[in-house]
Amino acid sequence: MNKTKLILMSCCAPCSCGAIKQLANGEIDGIDDFIVMFFNPNIFPESEYQKRLHEQIKYCEKLGVKYVIGDYNHDDWREHVRGLETEPERGARCSKCFAYRFCYAHAYAKKHGYNAIASVFGVSRHKDQHQVDNSAQQSCGEIEYLPIKWNEQLRQEINRESEFYRQNYCGCEFSIRK
Ligand code: SF4
Repeated sequence: MNKTKLILMSCCAPCSCGAIKQLANGEIDGIDDFIVMFFNPNIFPESEYQKRLHEQIKYCEKLGVKYVIGDYNHDDWREHVRGLETEPERGARCSKCFAYRFCYAHAYAKKHGYNAIASVFGVSRHKDQHQVDNSAQQSCGEIEYLPIKWNEQLRQEINRESEFYRQNYCGCEFSIRK
């Protein structure tokens, strides 16, 4: 039987900490290997991107799990969502943003021998898990998308005990709360 090698897509440490811990502890049945992917060219400005990246790396290294950093090309991301700048959070821009990131994971999976993708893009209370799942299902191609329901209580516990840098907006310039 084929082993399940999972890419866990992460947007930041506060959202991903519980999921990474569950995977590192072997709590998710059927996952033989996993890597955390930080591919978030949607984040603006770059200084904000660097803060979130730094926290992500710190947490992965603390737990001793593998991670990979995707390219940061915000101009390319902007081009991808052109015309959707005024969409609200959870609207059409977000669907394209999720799809853009899942497509990147799909290409990485094919190149590096991973056969499943999951994400923590839907864990924030500002997000719509169904929207994330739909975007993934349309973008992951032949790589299996696993809509894993992460342990929210664990995530909150880790957040309470940690001193993560914590942002107050999703990531792109259009989501910055006034
Ligand atoms: S609000 Fe978040 S998910 Fe939506 S487009 Fe901006 S960065 Fe992407």
